[in-house]
Amino acid sequence: MSAVLFWFRNDLRLHDQPALQAALTGGATHLLPVVCLPAADESTPWGCARVGLHRRAFTAAALRGLGARMAALGNPLIICNALPSSAGQCATVAQTAPSLAGQDPRSSFPYGTPACDGSEAAALAHLAQYLGRKLPHSYKATRNGLMGRDYSSKFSPWLATGALSPRQIYADLKAFERDHGANDGTYWLGFELLWRDYFRLLHLQYGAALYRARGLSELPLAPHNPRGFERWCRGDTGQPLVDAAMRELAATGYLSNRLRQVVASFLIYDLRGDWRAGAAWFESQLVDYDVYSNQANWLYIAGRGTDPRGGRRFDPIKQTQDHDADGSYRRLWGTL
Ligand code: FAD
Repeated sequence: MSAVLFWFRNDLRLHDQPALQAALTGGATHLLPVVCLPAADESTPWGCARVGLHRRAFTAAALRGLGARMAALGNPLIICNALPSSAGQCATVAQTAPSLAGQDPRSSFPYGTPACDGSEAAALAHLAQYLGRKLPHSYKATRNGLMGRDYSSKFSPWLATGALSPRQIYADLKAFERDHGANDGTYWLGFELLWRDYFRLLHLQYGAALYRARGLSELPLAPHNPRGFERWCRGDTGQPLVDAAMRELAATGYLSNRLRQVVASFLIYDLRGDWRAGAAWFESQLVDYDVYSNQANWLYIAGRGTDPRGGRRFDPIKQTQDHDADGSYRRLWGTL
């Protein structure tokens, strides 16, 4: 008799899951699939919840999907909650799901709708439709967009929970290129996935140094501006593009890459705030929060990572002219 305990972490899926497949097909007599969740009330030193409403809801949907599939295979998923008040308690799936949010019609990723559900099935369907509509071909031209479902791939929320495997995306993208042709769009989409990998490798190389206030640099410590930070979080700085973006982030848990750069730059260079506070707010709010990508991108903008060019300031006026000249984004979020 062999018993296998399989610990799901950020890989809430059955596809591209060789160890689990080996357990399912390799004659394990008992298979115990387990997930451990962080404490729901844990907060960061900057005073915000570590896991906000959006990510909790999206992860709960991923767990419901995974739980249903494991139950159908005869191995119910065991979810352990690290709640201080009930440490060590375990539950089966559904007992833990917070109420669904995420159906804001303005959202670029309305995770409360079936198409953007957190489950593996929805992730694979999303990948198939994205390729089926040949959107990789237009990726380079649209990826700096601010609104809508299709300007970028929206793979990131499912990549963050692991409901979608990066290897699966990359293999399907290569097959797409063989069947429909490669162009600069398919190239850049693959290239962005490599950035994601690179930021994982940075952690292997530098580890805890990435979390120092100085990051990898010898720059002076960043000042902190508590009141500016609070206004930034609320979307109440007086800068219309930044405020619109921060309102979108809080309302939906998602923000385009372009606007993540603009708001991060604004906190660091215009409000003279500590980049670590901004990274913590993103951790709390983003539905696709990923420690590697988040930390490395904040370090990059603050000029405290590995980029030899130093920090990256994005002028909000120029960014507005370049990306929201007609004001439709700012109007959508009520700052114009
Ligand atoms: P697409 O443009 O379609 O890109 C495809 C995939 O490539 C993404 O899903 C992602 O996995 C990867 N990718 C794209 N751009 C980047 C990048 N700059 N760095 C690393 N990977 C990238 N991404 C996260 O997944 N989680 C985070 O917590 C996160 N925090 C960020 C914080 C800041 C300050 C900035 C500037 C960027 C951050 N990003 C983060 C990177 C990027 O903004 C998102 O990956 C992207 O917007 C997700 O949308 P998409 O899947 O449609 O991306």
